[in-house]
Amino acid sequence: MSASHNSGVSVPKLSRRADSLGTENAFVVLAEVNALIRQGKKIVSFCIGQPDFPTPRYVQEAAIAAIKAGRHGYTPSAGIDPLRSAVARDIGARRGLSIKPDDVVVAAGAKPFIAYTIASVTDYGAGDEVIYPVPGFPIYESQIVANGAVPVPIYLRESRGFAFDPADLEAKITPQTRLLILNTPQNPTGGVLGREVLDSVADILSRHPQVWVFADEIYSRLVYDGMFDSLAARPGMLERTIISDGASKTWAMTGWRIGYAANRALAPVFTRWITNTESCAAQVSQWAALAAITGPQTAADAMRARFLERRDLIVRLLNEVPGITCATPGGAFYVWPNVTEACKMTGCADSEAFRLRLLQEADVAVLADIHFGRRVPGEGQHIRFSYAASTETIERGIARLADFVRTRAK
Ligand code: PMP
Repeated sequence: MSASHNSGVSVPKLSRRADSLGTENAFVVLAEVNALIRQGKKIVSFCIGQPDFPTPRYVQEAAIAAIKAGRHGYTPSAGIDPLRSAVARDIGARRGLSIKPDDVVVAAGAKPFIAYTIASVTDYGAGDEVIYPVPGFPIYESQIVANGAVPVPIYLRESRGFAFDPADLEAKITPQTRLLILNTPQNPTGGVLGREVLDSVADILSRHPQVWVFADEIYSRLVYDGMFDSLAARPGMLERTIISDGASKTWAMTGWRIGYAANRALAPVFTRWITNTESCAAQVSQWAALAAITGPQTAADAMRARFLERRDLIVRLLNEVPGITCATPGGAFYVWPNVTEACKMTGCADSEAFRLRLLQEADVAVLADIHFGRRVPGEGQHIRFSYAASTETIERGIARLADFVRTRAK
């Protein structure tokens, strides 16, 4: 069998791996939004998961200085030494851990470490299982499947502040479990895994030494109530946990592409993956990230303070909309309101129908729960707002949403 090409000329067939590769469905919605904008519609969008602030000035200056100093060749695959040292100090200090620079690897964003980790701890077609959060970042399931491992979802529950039931985790671990993916604070719910949940996870994992943990902590600096807490800080967990963090969300640097991961055993393996793929992260971006981490944190703190104000605003406004309830999430820049009643009131079959009508009839763009994995049984209907948007945008968008629900209520 051969795959057909746009031109109509047939080309040889693709691999099962390529065929199974998923995507971030957010990009599908973005295409819809862009098509409407081209038609002249004024869409208020809450789809984008990136800070709407500029990269801080001192970081920009560091990048310009690096270019002018001729620092633009290849670097070692694991990253430049001063950045690895700064990352080790910074992520260690924020988690109460001692991390060595040699255990840190820098890549073009935190995202590549998802694939590198799955590819490094599971074998294709061997029945190796990976437990991952649903709703969750869609790349987890995509990479589990494309790497020929078995996806085992663990459901996040609104009633638990978007944590999973630790007993549920225990029940899903088998001798074939190779990896547990944790994300805190979370995309898409904004939920934070609290101390007790993390203690329970550590306790459970102590009985299952075959399981690695990928701790996706890219939103670690966007925690609003209390301190950030990592599984890696529990006794016996650091060695088997891959801590993943990066510059994208903390310093508004998504397009600079700098992420980092820390784990002693896997650092040399990640380094080899990078040598095999991108060679190294962009050198100019590495110097910029070094400045971001070691410079004054006033800009990062100010962005966090703005996100917190917006969180409180959007949660308050959403809870005033008939048929919508919105829990106050502890981190990141997402809210995950429950729209089960609003769907019923407006005659929408589910959250995806609601999302589509909201876009077409009210010019408001959001994502639906199905963009973040299968819908969780018994949890009702949810949509996701990114509140990395101005307060005016939030006020205008939620006013349109409220108007939509009120005027369409049957
Ligand atoms: N993990 C999660 C949960 C994310 O939301 C994102 C970004 N949307 C990433 C990883 C990837 O971030 P980066 O820009 O560092 O690749």
